[in-house]
Amino acid sequence: MREIPRFLLYQVIRKENVLPITSFCNLRCIFCSNLQNPPGIEVFSLPPLPLSYLKRFLPLLDGSRKIIIGEAASRISEGEPFTHPEIWAILEELRRIYPETLIQITTNGCLLNSDSLKRLHAYQPLEVNLSLNSATEWGRSLLMNDREPAKIREVVGELSKFGIPFNGSIVALPHLVGWADIAESCRFLDDHGAQTIRLLFPGFTRLAPKFLRFPPRETYRRLKEFVAENSALLQAPVLLEPPFAPPVEIDLSPVVEGVLPASPAEDAGLRRREVINCVHGKRVHSRVEAFRLIQQLRKPVLDVFRDGRVIRVNLQKRKNQPSGLIMNYDLDWSMLSRVKKIITRKRARRVLLLTSQWGFPWLQKVLPELEKTGAEIQVFPVTNHFFGGSIACAGLLTVPDFRRALLQMKSIHHLGFDLILLPGIAFDHRGRDLLGYSYSVLSNFAHTEVKAVL
Ligand code: SF4
Repeated sequence: MREIPRFLLYQVIRKENVLPITSFCNLRCIFCSNLQNPPGIEVFSLPPLPLSYLKRFLPLLDGSRKIIIGEAASRISEGEPFTHPEIWAILEELRRIYPETLIQITTNGCLLNSDSLKRLHAYQPLEVNLSLNSATEWGRSLLMNDREPAKIREVVGELSKFGIPFNGSIVALPHLVGWADIAESCRFLDDHGAQTIRLLFPGFTRLAPKFLRFPPRETYRRLKEFVAENSALLQAPVLLEPPFAPPVEIDLSPVVEGVLPASPAEDAGLRRREVINCVHGKRVHSRVEAFRLIQQLRKPVLDVFRDGRVIRVNLQKRKNQPSGLIMNYDLDWSMLSRVKKIITRKRARRVLLLTSQWGFPWLQKVLPELEKTGAEIQVFPVTNHFFGGSIACAGLLTVPDFRRALLQMKSIHHLGFDLILLPGIAFDHRGRDLLGYSYSVLSNFAHTEVKAVL
């Protein structure tokens, strides 16, 4: 195991408000990304970090945003937080420093019971992200190698009894468990009051065993249909992640997918399927932009499209308080501003924007916005050859993938760009990819300035 560089911990804590405490997990899910990584990539697996060590990092967390425990962040692998021998002391210390901040804990639920949930209840405001994956004994043992698969139903019952808000997630593998298992698991979460049900569309790398592979496009299409059918039958919003996959009809309308009970959004009368046009008089261009702006503002005023007309809605909330709105992730509009800024600063006239296959249709859609800079811009989708399989996201692109894409373009026509932009999510703060290669080598290769959009 590699020793984790301190700067990475700082980065994850400062940027993402994630507190990594351990990468150890008591289960062995067949789809766990930790098992499918090709050799050579720089990922870090943490032993349980002692509280005495973590203490120096805790003050770096942002108390005005939710604090996250148990999620993978940057290059640090996720683990099960309740395997950490000092989990309760860590929570105690977090509460002491941040008495009112929402803490989100992602867990597989195996190690929870009535006593621990009672204890957890004392640390509110808190929410649990439960990796359920299946509510049936058969499904849970098949997918997660859970040796006591029946226990999770009791745990969910107790979560609900103690009134601890929770979201349930299901890694959707219908070719293994069947659609009926997924439907039953959604119903189970809904019956027990889950705030949201997240259906995670899994990717598989070139190293995935045969039984984990499936036709991605067809499966995604069927999952979309499944979500549409089941959303109508369930109280909790069912969110497919990622919410859109190519080929898609790109729609950036800030549509509300759901509203949490007893939240500012519910108090203001907001409802599922309504569309937010403006926030405080400012037109919002995407779901991400609307969601973030509403979260940041105190008492935001929204123009909402309802029943064929626009009405004004006042949200009674504090600055940075969650609104209770549930929306799908689409496009980070602030990223476009960053791209425009770089193009303008560099006075570039011909720009090549390299992106992932998932990102391609989105950037194509917003090209006119980017071309307001006066530059001629070409967007090109880069294939994830290194990870292979069904992987098509920007965060897992590597320098050899970008190089291959440039080579492919070169063979089609002379490059002739004066600036090449890459998705910053593929690189760390020193500009190195998951293999440790710096993107600066691409400049020599393309004889053009190359920059990552951070
Ligand atoms: S619970 Fe999460 S970390 Fe543990 S094996 Fe499953 S996917 Fe991996």
